[in-house]
Amino acid sequence: MSSDELRDLYQDVIIDHGKRPRNFRELPDATCTAQGFNPLCGDDLRIYIKLADGVIADIAFQGAGCAISQASASLMTLAVKGQTTQQALVLFGRVHALLTEGPNARVTPEELGKLAVLSGVWEFPVRVKCATLAWHTLRSALEGGGEAVSTE
Ligand code: ZN
Repeated sequence: MSSDELRDLYQDVIIDHGKRPRNFRELPDATCTAQGFNPLCGDDLRIYIKLADGVIADIAFQGAGCAISQASASLMTLAVKGQTTQQALVLFGRVHALLTEGPNARVTPEELGKLAVLSGVWEFPVRVKCATLAWHTLRSALEGGGEAVSTE
């Protein structure tokens, strides 16, 4: 597959998740939750997590924002469901490195799975905060919530 074809494929996945985000709902029995804002773009997310014995048994989100922010949140819920808190925080670190450092990040496609579709976002600095918002909010929820996360 050429890099152009790969890019098109990644774009299709992001558009699909942006239009039809997965796990877009409230979680009435959530054990932790956090809210995040990206004032630069107007993205606004709330993440709900149900932790059971240190494992993310269920995760969902609600909010409004651009396609990248919604797609990133949607992909995140699929990626971390079933993971331990520790595994999710490790994944946060990898995705954050991918989005902020691009090819300089020492992250292999195998370590990212489906999240590799976010790799192209690095080339668009104004979109990086849209894509990292869900992940910062995830970390905040796992670390106890508290104040809303802002990317600014
Ligand atoms: Zn955005």
